Amino acid sequence: MRIRPASSTSPAHAKSRAARARALSKTGSGLPAPPKWLATFKRPALADDADAVALALRLAERNIQEETGGPFGAVVYSLARLEIVGVGVNVVESSGLSVMHAEIAALIDAQTREGGYDALANGFGLACSCQPCTMCLGAIHWARLQRLSYSATKADAEKIGFDEGPGDRAIVAGLRRRGVRVICGLHRERGRQVFEDYRRREGKIY
Ligand SMILES: [Zn+2]
Repeated sequence: MRIRPASSTSPAHAKSRAARARALSKTGSGLPAPPKWLATFKRPALADDADAVALALRLAERNIQEETGGPFGAVVYSLARLEIVGVGVNVVESSGLSVMHAEIAALIDAQTREGGYDALANGFGLACSCQPCTMCLGAIHWARLQRLSYSATKADAEKIGFDEGPGDRAIVAGLRRRGVRVICGLHRERGRQVFEDYRRREGKIY
């Protein structure tokens, strides 16, 4: 499933850019349409944060199996009801948009469903298959989430070649000061396995 990088002037690259532009225009909002299988992805009731992370991992695994994007998944859930209100997978490559990380996709899904940019303020958490990058940590701040839980670490993603950006200790410390609870390493071994499966299938590293 590895996609060879094409030169910016090749017909293949131009065609792929045209396909991406069509995908982007599909929603009519400038946002890329999520992978089709995501519409029927089961959203079971959650028991706890570890359950939410397990579902984020399932999304990452499915994204690899369906060949619809990178090995990352994320879930937004209500902390009181433990209900899933948003799901997302990494579609950076297929959309041609560098911001389309799983976490951002899940937040877009959740805020669209829940009613706006402040709909998740207080009482919602984000569960991720991997430690969020600096951009996604910033998005957690702006969405005013109260909890972050994740499986694999930045180092696990970098081990197979992903560039995870600059360190994030200051941002995490800032989130914690604001009362965000951060839970690391849930289902860590399964999180590592997701990256190993992606590497074995020669998935694109970007
Ligand atoms: Zn990110």
